[in-house]
Amino acid sequence: MSEYQVIARKYRPKKFSDVVGQDAIVKTLLNAIAKGRVAHAYLFAGTRGTGKTTLARLLARALNCQNPGENNEPCNSCTVCRDIIQGSSMDVLEIDGASHRGIEDIRQINEGVTYVPTSGKVKIYLIDEVHMLTKEAFNALLKTLEEPPANVKFFFATTEPHKVPATILSRCQIFNLNRIPTEKIEAKLTQIAQDLEIKTGKGVLRLIAYLAEGSMRDAESLFEQVRSELHNRDEVFNVLGLLANTSFYELDKACASGDIKTVFSLAHDIFHSGKNLSYFLEQLSSHYRKLLLLKVGDKEGAYFFEQEDEEQYTKHLVIYSQSQLLKILEILSTAMHEVKFAPKERIYIEMVLLKIIRTKKELRLDELVERLENLENGLRDPSPIQKHEEIFSSVKKIEEPPSFPSKKVENEKQKGRHETMVQFAAKELDGLIQR
Ligand SMILES: [Zn+2]
Repeated sequence: MSEYQVIARKYRPKKFSDVVGQDAIVKTLLNAIAKGRVAHAYLFAGTRGTGKTTLARLLARALNCQNPGENNEPCNSCTVCRDIIQGSSMDVLEIDGASHRGIEDIRQINEGVTYVPTSGKVKIYLIDEVHMLTKEAFNALLKTLEEPPANVKFFFATTEPHKVPATILSRCQIFNLNRIPTEKIEAKLTQIAQDLEIKTGKGVLRLIAYLAEGSMRDAESLFEQVRSELHNRDEVFNVLGLLANTSFYELDKACASGDIKTVFSLAHDIFHSGKNLSYFLEQLSSHYRKLLLLKVGDKEGAYFFEQEDEEQYTKHLVIYSQSQLLKILEILSTAMHEVKFAPKERIYIEMVLLKIIRTKKELRLDELVERLENLENGLRDPSPIQKHEEIFSSVKKIEEPPSFPSKKVENEKQKGRHETMVQFAAKELDGLIQR
């Protein structure tokens, strides 16, 4: 292996016990190995960087290791383990489903399964991004899955299990991998930083873990990206194209006072710093999401990088009402969709920020209900209603026909009479109103 290894590769779990955030799956797999009840096909599904291929590779080693350790963990040092790690094993074959998606690729696999494993115990085909296979390829694969030869196993990994045909899914044991909890990612990053003897600023690793959204690989690659700046939180923000929280606190203050000037200076800063507008909107959403979570009493969910942040947020909580925060999050959610189509970015940011400030002036639902109730009470005031009834009863009197001489009245005649009656009624009504 090369001397320099990217962090994600260097710190990839070597044992099941190293796997972070997938405890239930690890337990099930270790149990299956111990009891000799490993399925013929597994499908590992989950978002990127959650450990799908890592688990599949660990399982491949554990099943073939010549000298398994406690709990059937792979030893990683026997020739079989080493061959698998280096990707040179004849028995554990990794196939990229995105680039080998055709029927010919699967035919080769179907032919290969007939040969017994050379040095190991089990022949394993690991197909990554399996959802990319063509329909014909899936059909060809199905035949082998229906009658899998002894000592052959299929491990599939996919980010999009819904694209895998039901006929295939029904022949696999399926594991849905969770997004890895932020605290667990942070703990792993702390371990890596310690191992590499890198000093990190307060809250920096927490921030990276948070930004990775449950993907260990993303966290490790962000870590790599800011590796030389990890001691300086502001610099990390800068390198990652993020705005420091102080900008958001400024916006809170502007919201409190209705100060529109701040909007323009903030938009100016974002525009001239060349910050990615989508990131900015995402960060702004996260800011308001935190405020809303605090508002409803979910401090854990708000997740703060530093104690000072938490204090600031608690202080700013009074600026907004709950319904206002919901409205702002709605504005930002729309903005995140629309921003790609905005012809003038700067004007677009200004508009979004102005809309946010204006939410204070918009009536809250509870206020609206109160006003409606007042209006209703006002209508119950007897004087105007009585007036209406007065007018109505007098009109009714006028409209009553004064009894016709004969029951057979010609239509024309009736129409004429009706017209004069309406005219009369209108005249009477006019008089009534004028009185
Ligand atoms: Zn081994």
